[in-house]
Amino acid sequence: MTRTVYVNGEYLPETEAKVSIFDRGFLMGDAVYEVTSVLDGKLIDFEGHAVRLERSLNELDMQPACSKEELLAIHRKLVELNDINEGLVYLQVSRGSNGDRDFVFPDPETTKPTIVLFTQNKPNLADSPAARKGAKIISIDDIRWGRRDIKTVQLLYPSMGKMMAKAAGADDAWLIEDGHVTEGTSNNAYFVTNGKIVTRPLSTDILHGITRAAVMRLAEEAQMEVEERLFTIDEAKEADEAFTTSASAFVMPVIEIDGVQLGDGTPGPIAKRLREIYLDEARKKAI
Ligand code: PMP
Repeated sequence: MTRTVYVNGEYLPETEAKVSIFDRGFLMGDAVYEVTSVLDGKLIDFEGHAVRLERSLNELDMQPACSKEELLAIHRKLVELNDINEGLVYLQVSRGSNGDRDFVFPDPETTKPTIVLFTQNKPNLADSPAARKGAKIISIDDIRWGRRDIKTVQLLYPSMGKMMAKAAGADDAWLIEDGHVTEGTSNNAYFVTNGKIVTRPLSTDILHGITRAAVMRLAEEAQMEVEERLFTIDEAKEADEAFTTSASAFVMPVIEIDGVQLGDGTPGPIAKRLREIYLDEARKKAI
C-alpha cells in the first residue's frame, strides 16, 4: 500500500509529495516537529503535542500552521487513510520558502509555513520486544544548542549519538553537560534508587516531554516518590533501575549504562509498572 501523506492542504501518495529546494527546513533547519503515537487507531496525548507545537512555533516567531481542530482532523484522516492501528504520526512545520536562500526570515505575510504530516506503521509499538529486553545506553557529551525546549528538526547530534551507541554495542545515549545528565538523544532520562524516581527539572536544557508530564503525574498518583533535580551519570550507574520516556517508546527500561549492569540486568519493577500504567491510561484517554 502506498502511504498517503499531507503537504500544505493536500493528501497525496508519498511519491508525489513535494517541498521546495529553497524550503528553510531543508536549508537552515528552520522547522519544528511533533510525534504523536497511535494505539488502537487512536491518538495518544494529542492535546499535549498540539500545545507544545504552538509553543515551539511561538518561541521561533513562526506563524501557527493551522488551527488545533484542523490539525486533529488531519492526524485522524491520515491514520484512517493509512489504516494505522499502532504507529506514529509525524508533523513537520517549517518557516516555508520564499524562492531563494537568505538568513533573514522571510515576510510571514507572503511566505507561508510548509506543513507536512506522514504516518509510520509500527505494529509492535505497545508490545515492544525492545521494552521487554530493556535498553543499553552509553553516555556522551551534550554539545547541542541551548534551546532544547524547542522541538526543532535539528536532529544531527541526536542521530550521531545513536550511531555512537550502535558502534559501542548499545541502544541509545544519554547526554552529559557540566557533569550532569540532561536527557537521552530522543527521550527524557530517569533513575530509581530506594523506590525514589529522580529526573532533571524542566528548563531550556531539555525537551519538556509530553510523556514525561504524564508519567510523572501517574507516578505521583500511584504514591511513588518523584524528585526533580540534577543528577550525574555515576548516580544513575549505581541506581536500582533506570528508564527513559518518549512518545514513540512510552516508558523504556534501561538495563545497562556505560557497560555497568543495573540490578539483575533485566527491566526494573518500577519502569515496568510505569509502562503498564501509562499504556493503560493512554489507551483510555486516546482520541
Ligand atoms: N527529549 C528529546 C531530546 C526528545 O527528542 C524527545 C522525543 N521527542 C523527548 C525528550 C521526549 O518527549 P516526548 O515524551 O514528548 O516524546
